[in-house]
Amino acid sequence: MKSIERKSLIYKTGVEYGDYTINIAEGCSHGCKYPCYAMMMAKRFGKAKTYEDWCEPKIVSNALELLDKELPKMKENIKSIQLCFTTDPFMYNYPEISNLSLNCIKKINSYGIPCTALTKGLLPQELENLSKNNEYGITLISLNEDFRKEMEPGSAPYKDRIERLKYLHNKGCKTWVSIEPYPTPNFIEQDLSDILKELSFVDKIIFGRLNYNAKVSQYKNYKQFFNDMANIVIDFCKLNNKQYHIKDGTITQ
Ligand code: SF4
Repeated sequence: MKSIERKSLIYKTGVEYGDYTINIAEGCSHGCKYPCYAMMMAKRFGKAKTYEDWCEPKIVSNALELLDKELPKMKENIKSIQLCFTTDPFMYNYPEISNLSLNCIKKINSYGIPCTALTKGLLPQELENLSKNNEYGITLISLNEDFRKEMEPGSAPYKDRIERLKYLHNKGCKTWVSIEPYPTPNFIEQDLSDILKELSFVDKIIFGRLNYNAKVSQYKNYKQFFNDMANIVIDFCKLNNKQYHIKDGTITQ
């Protein structure tokens, strides 16, 4: 696969629930069509010319060397490192990417720093052997495979994603789900409670609305819809004693 070298790797994220982050590739084969915010930024800054360009990831070949340089200097300030905000650490059918992410997590953990990983691919079973302070998550916005193929064409099937997450949960790992970007019913008619039921084993749920897509505002009561969905998540989490976070801008007056 194609590769790039970077000058630095660890940076502070502006994302509301993140601390520090690393991105081990440029581009992402999952090719989400919500659209993907990272792709929009990559296009704006000339890192990807087209959607097809974006879907052909370039691995950061010097990621481990950069961690060796940066971790000793930065370790005191870092509470946790998330993989990844502008790509996917476990891209489906990209073993080179998954191996690099695993090795990065091992290295970061060796400094006593926990990692959080989020994927639309498959979480490797090997994660069960790493620090139990790590947190492993999947993104899941539907259980409908036709919808997945349309919106996240290169990603792992939903069922397989959930199975792998459950496997890690059963091995005593902390697990979470990001139900984001949640679509309005003019994309797909579905019952959020069905999704929550499938994920009832996770420790934490993050919920957020779909942004950057004009079709959302074509749904007449979209603000009320997102308020209602957020309340379903909050009630579910309170009832089942789970941590939750509703992304800024999801609930409006
Ligand atoms: S998985 Fe994330 S980074 Fe990859 S295309 Fe989808 S939204 Fe973008």
